[in-house]
Amino acid sequence: MMKATANKPKRRRCKICREWFHYQDFRTWWCCPEHGARFALQKREADREKKRKDEAQQERRSIKIRKLAVQPLSYFHKQAQTAFNEFIRTRDAGQPCISCDRNTGAKMNAGHYRTVGASKETRYDERNCHLQCEHCNSYLSGNIGEYKPRLIAKIGQAAFDRLMEPHELKKWTREELQELAKHYRQKTRELIKQREAAA
Ligand SMILES: [Zn+2]
Ligand SMILES: [Zn+2]
Repeated sequence: MMKATANKPKRRRCKICREWFHYQDFRTWWCCPEHGARFALQKREADREKKRKDEAQQERRSIKIRKLAVQPLSYFHKQAQTAFNEFIRTRDAGQPCISCDRNTGAKMNAGHYRTVGASKETRYDERNCHLQCEHCNSYLSGNIGEYKPRLIAKIGQAAFDRLMEPHELKKWTREELQELAKHYRQKTRELIKQREAAA
């Protein structure tokens, strides 16, 4: 039989005064009854503090949920479109404008070929959105005449034809749009990470 170490007196430091003491019960963290009482008091205070923090966090969460619940669907579309456009700008970073083929170094936009207003069905279609200069995007309303040949050259005639087909108009829910925004934020992050690793 093994002479177990069970009989050997165990010691640890008191949680209050940090002095070493011997203990029988593993739940004892104090050297004397007085420090035991203080330890209990401290623990109760810590538990209360934790409860307060948890409740405050829970409250903040439910406020956030209530705020989101009263937002119109357009709010969620805006969030999703922002994330999608950011992905497009990241994907095409460094490339010239899809319409005028210039790379002025100025602010570049994510420009839809089939506009969001005219074709809601293709607003989140990656084939439909490419890096475009501010001039073409804002002042030339997308410079569509110049956009078309370069878009076909970029994605191919077959993909272009599929893009131009009629698409079903999806009925988005808030949750789906939140998911979509999350998906594109994730995609952007991964793309940046890949490039950093390759550099
Ligand atoms: Zn003590
Ligand atoms: Zn341009």
